[in-house]
Amino acid sequence: MSGDCIFCKIAKGEFGTKFIYEDKDLLAFHDINPQAPVHVLIISRNHISRINQLDDSNPDLAGKMILTANKVARNEKISKAGYRLVFNCGPDGGQEVEHIHLHLLGGRQMSWPPG
Ligand code: 5GP
Ligand code: ZN
Repeated sequence: MSGDCIFCKIAKGEFGTKFIYEDKDLLAFHDINPQAPVHVLIISRNHISRINQLDDSNPDLAGKMILTANKVARNEKISKAGYRLVFNCGPDGGQEVEHIHLHLLGGRQMSWPPG
């Protein structure tokens, strides 16, 4: 837990957020401000601020997050049509919540380049 971190509070169940996936390392829940028909966040239970904070002490976490996103995508029935996975990192990456999370976005055609 880190101070006022909103995702740590969600992980502790403080807001009664419905988890659509959980295991010992990760949680997944719907984004409060969805940018697509399916917009799920996969977060670490532990407080890690950004993807660039991962190092040799935690080599498996990002892979687990991606495998979990794939699993959620299958459950959400967007696997075949496809989807987008996004890690925003730091200010230029557009990261607003400083607790590592992977966005799963789908259910519509995505555009490129991103905004
Ligand atoms: P970032 O910009 O940091 O990559 O993404 C943070 C995401 O967290 C945003 O898409 C935002 O809508 C979502 N978010 C922020 N606060 C909450 C919350 O309290 N509950 C949920 N479910 N999502 C949140
Ligand atoms: Zn946190």
